[in-house]
Amino acid sequence: MLKIENLHAEIDGKAILKGLSLTINPGEIHAIMGPNGAGKSTLSYVLSGRPGYEVTEGSVTFDGEDLLDKAPHERAAAGLFLGFQYPVEIPGVSNVQFLREALNAQRRLRGEEPLSGGDFLKRARVQADALGLSMDMLKRPVNVGFSGGEKKRNEMVQMGIIDPRLAILDETDSGLDIDALRTVGHGINTIMRKADKAVLLITHYQRLLDYVKPDFVHVLAAGRIVRTGGAELALELEREGYGAIAA
Ligand code: ADP
Ligand code: MG
Ligand code: MG
Repeated sequence: MLKIENLHAEIDGKAILKGLSLTINPGEIHAIMGPNGAGKSTLSYVLSGRPGYEVTEGSVTFDGEDLLDKAPHERAAAGLFLGFQYPVEIPGVSNVQFLREALNAQRRLRGEEPLSGGDFLKRARVQADALGLSMDMLKRPVNVGFSGGEKKRNEMVQMGIIDPRLAILDETDSGLDIDALRTVGHGINTIMRKADKAVLLITHYQRLLDYVKPDFVHVLAAGRIVRTGGAELALELEREGYGAIAA
């Protein structure tokens, strides 16, 4: 599904990713862990197409097509979803408006019919119910006045409505209490643990992996993947720290 080969990327002329390779197949959940400054967020930004990140070498394909050639909205329409540590607030735009616009823009790009208001609300209600978010919250401006936990619940509802094929979640667990962590874990498991979908979980800590069991754990250090293992590698990292493994 996603094939990253020998990826090199820089910001302001500073090399950050230095030969990163990673293959993600449908049905797989991958975790990337690593020390601060390793390049984890840079990887998610490069994959999302954020301006300012220059790829100097290597390739990324999604379903066999060159991902780096596509604009960010085309990547989303192709089935890529990015979740971030700090969900943005959008005053004056309700969650419902925002999500219906986003979903229908993607559907148009894929040549699918846009959803009517009624059909969209049905779909939104199913996801909100599954994640325990009230429809009242969905009618409020995006994330404005939401607690940290509510923003995360909202992000999971967004993911459920958009229904992506590959979700890349960058430190989506940081700063969460146990209840919010459980919500995120439940959201990822119910929405994304399917034979035709995949997840790339970028996290500094092992604890989210208690709720979402990864098939592969990779250690990113100094811009490259220096080690790959199964779920047990995350526990080893928690015990031993990154120093010994990433050195
Ligand atoms: P991580 O997410 O693993 O903590 P990042 O991808 O955020 O790491 O950062 C990787 C490196 O890139 C760090 O050394 C950081 O200081 C540097 N970096 C990030 N953003 C910029 C920027 N806008 N300009 C220059 N250097 C940056
Ligand atoms: Mg960081
Ligand atoms: Mg980061």
